Amino acid sequence: MSRKFEILIVGGGVAGLALATRLGNTMGRQGKARITLIDKSFSHVWKPMLHCFAAGTAQNENDRISFMAQARRHHFEFWPGEVISLDREKKETVLGPLYGADGSLVLEGRTVKYDALILSIGSCANDFGTPGVSEHCLFIDNLVEANGFNEKFRMELLRSYAGDGALDIAIVGGGATGTQLAAELHKALELAGLHSFSQTPPVLNITLLEAGPRILPAFPEEVSQAARQELERIGVRVLTSAMVSGADSHGFTLKDGSHIPATLRVWAAGVKAPEVTKGFGDLSLSRSGQILVKPTLQSVDDPAIFAMGDCSYIADDPLPPTAQVARQQAHHLARQLPAWLYDKREISPCVFNNKGAIVALGNYNGWGTLPGGTVFGGGVFKGLSARLGHLALYRQHQVELYGVSRGLISCFSDWVSSLVNPSIRLH
Ligand SMILES: Cc1cc2nc3c(=O)[nH]c(=O)nc-3n(C[C@H](O)[C@H](O)[C@H](O)COP(=O)(O)OP(=O)(O)OC[C@H]3O[C@@H](n4cnc5c(N)ncnc54)[C@H](O)[C@@H]3O)c2cc1C
Repeated sequence: MSRKFEILIVGGGVAGLALATRLGNTMGRQGKARITLIDKSFSHVWKPMLHCFAAGTAQNENDRISFMAQARRHHFEFWPGEVISLDREKKETVLGPLYGADGSLVLEGRTVKYDALILSIGSCANDFGTPGVSEHCLFIDNLVEANGFNEKFRMELLRSYAGDGALDIAIVGGGATGTQLAAELHKALELAGLHSFSQTPPVLNITLLEAGPRILPAFPEEVSQAARQELERIGVRVLTSAMVSGADSHGFTLKDGSHIPATLRVWAAGVKAPEVTKGFGDLSLSRSGQILVKPTLQSVDDPAIFAMGDCSYIADDPLPPTAQVARQQAHHLARQLPAWLYDKREISPCVFNNKGAIVALGNYNGWGTLPGGTVFGGGVFKGLSARLGHLALYRQHQVELYGVSRGLISCFSDWVSSLVNPSIRLH
């Protein structure tokens, strides 16, 4: 009996889980290929919500999708594990050993073979080697880090409630992550005030540090200005052209020599691929460690290896590391791979269709940009429509992965849960 073609997807984030689900529903269901997803965690989270999990304004137990359950429903296989290197000659990925929460060894390191390999392992913040950052800063690049930040945030708030004065938080990076986190932390304090030991909530001093001349540089200038005004209105201190030269246990030092004191220090600037890409054989990488791909999303070195989402880089036409790009690339490969495999047809280039961008500052305000040349003719929308638009992106993602009826049930169950549970994480 002939062996099934092995399609291996590494990383079940925005791009990887969408691709595994779509290929599972087609090639997997028809028994035409074996689709396997590997991820270092057991469940998927919608990364654009990580700042809400970090602030505690979203309860992430409801927002996780189990890889095993998704695999069973959509005809693919899932294995937990962290890919640590590749052997391109043998066409196999090498997985590190898997340990339990108590540190005991669960699975020895192992290898998994592929005929086609799709890498979608995302990205993390880039500290550009700034001294002290890795030792003294918190990151919110994944659920573990977002939860870790939330634990520290709640404990420091408790300390302040108990009489230790104001809580100083400094966030480096005025992109969407840092800007949205600043607003969400302010919202968290307001919500925590509703459940607070019969005391006035402590003062929260949030400082947002951006090296460039304006926050939200990927958005039009008018959005940057409006977002800055909104943050300042709620009491966030915004410092632009503020280049951080070092971090220590007391705060950040800026290039001009000034010091920003902070009990909690968050690094949310820059984007780079996870370190592991350096161990991916001799695959060509960008300066930030992303896998260099052609517009077809095939590695420039190996047509059997694809990369999509944040961990990929198209040298001739670089795209921003956003969920929109990751999603469109996954859809493209889901359409192209069957014919590439069975009819030996070339993969056609993936053309990014910019549908605009949205940023939401908690409950306070939001802005969306529409691409020029659409029926809307380009432009900016704001307020409630932008905030609802941001939420709609998440719901769209859920419906895509769950299907329409389960997606709607999930929205309903979130709504019921919001009636039962406090709207802020308290434990
Ligand atoms: C706080 C925050 C807010 C954001 N807000 C927005 C927004 O509003 N709009 C927007 O468009 N984008 C936003 N982004 C960016 C967006 O989340 C990313 O562009 C998107 O998630 C990229 O998708 P991806 O599939 O490439 O990677 P990810 O979604 O990051 O998924 C990567 C997956 O790979 C797994 N993985 C990593 N390494 C390995 C390994 N070695 N072995 C096995 N598995 C591995 C991870 O566990 C993860 O499941 C935000 C990002 C952050 C951090």
